[in-house]
Amino acid sequence: KDTDGLYTVSLIEGDGIGPEISQSVKDIFSAAGAPVKWEPVDVTPILKDGKTTIAQETIDSIKRNKVALKGPLATPIGKGHVSLNLTLRRTFNLFANVRPCRSIAGYKTPYDNVDTVLIRENTEGEYSGIEHIVVDGVVQSIKLITREASERVLRFAFQYAENINRLKVRAVHKATIMKMSDGLFLGTANRVSKDYPNVEFDAELLDNTCLKIVTDPTPYNDKVLVMPNLYGDILSDMCAGLIGGLGLTPSGNIGDECSIFEAVHGSAPDIAGKALANPTALLLSSIMMLRHMELYDHAQRIETAIFDTLAEGKTLTGDLGGKSKTHEYAGAIIKRL
Ligand code: NAD
Repeated sequence: KDTDGLYTVSLIEGDGIGPEISQSVKDIFSAAGAPVKWEPVDVTPILKDGKTTIAQETIDSIKRNKVALKGPLATPIGKGHVSLNLTLRRTFNLFANVRPCRSIAGYKTPYDNVDTVLIRENTEGEYSGIEHIVVDGVVQSIKLITREASERVLRFAFQYAENINRLKVRAVHKATIMKMSDGLFLGTANRVSKDYPNVEFDAELLDNTCLKIVTDPTPYNDKVLVMPNLYGDILSDMCAGLIGGLGLTPSGNIGDECSIFEAVHGSAPDIAGKALANPTALLLSSIMMLRHMELYDHAQRIETAIFDTLAEGKTLTGDLGGKSKTHEYAGAIIKRL
């Protein structure tokens, strides 16, 4: 927070539709009088000693501000590049990925009452990148699970549950088959749960969770789900599908030092530069960010304006069946503010 009472936030506008949807966030924040000063940073990948990294000033900016908002980044296809998203997660040790999915009035999907919160371990599991050829035609891919990373994300899940007053945590796992790896995750969950007596804890097998959520999501509306990396990746997209897809879902990547909030969707090169993009996912990510910064009143006011605009259904972007341009939709939100 500076002397003017403003909080500086690093802003990665991103590629493709990134600059257009970032503009909407900036316009809406300024109309709402949110006390945020944006510090634009560049995340063009640099190859240093054969490793993908980002500019030192960017790293310094995010470390200094501790909070960043990020538009989608196009992952360059080709050898020698690790995904930039993975690079950011590793650089800032963003160990937990928080993905809420809540039904949006005005956008009809098979269920009207979805309200899931999923926390994904963000650093290991099948994403550790340990793969090798045993002999021609046989490869091994190693799923790495450590007590340390499991405990870190599990403690975060229990704390998060307490913070949002959703006092049930459910670990999703496959310890019946992955006895050692998921077994370690589940065992750690059981142990950590003892430190949070106010929070109810139980566990469920991943396949069962999938079946039950798509059959009836309501029993999940009072729980925080927490799980290893790959399960979280898949299940969070499935939940996004229940509320109308990736254009509406926010996320937060949380670390001990810094946190980066981002839309779940990609850079949408097919519609970039045409003012057709829906900024809702990035906007909802920016609202998660405001709550993370404990700016609850500003978060609530902007969120209400977004949901009311969507519910009214007059100024929607093309992906939601409307005809409005990105800035027209943002303008309708601003009018309500
Ligand atoms: P995508 O999410 O960019 O697009 C999929 C489809 O959804 C497209 O038809 C697109 O027009 C539409 N769409 C996405 N966001 C939208 C929005 N806000 N409003 C309206 N329509 C929207 O996925 P893709 O095409 O597979 O990937 C494109 C690029 O984005 C790739 O380079 C990929 O690596 C990258 N990507 C980045 C992230 C990230 O930064 N977190 C996530 C996924 C993909």
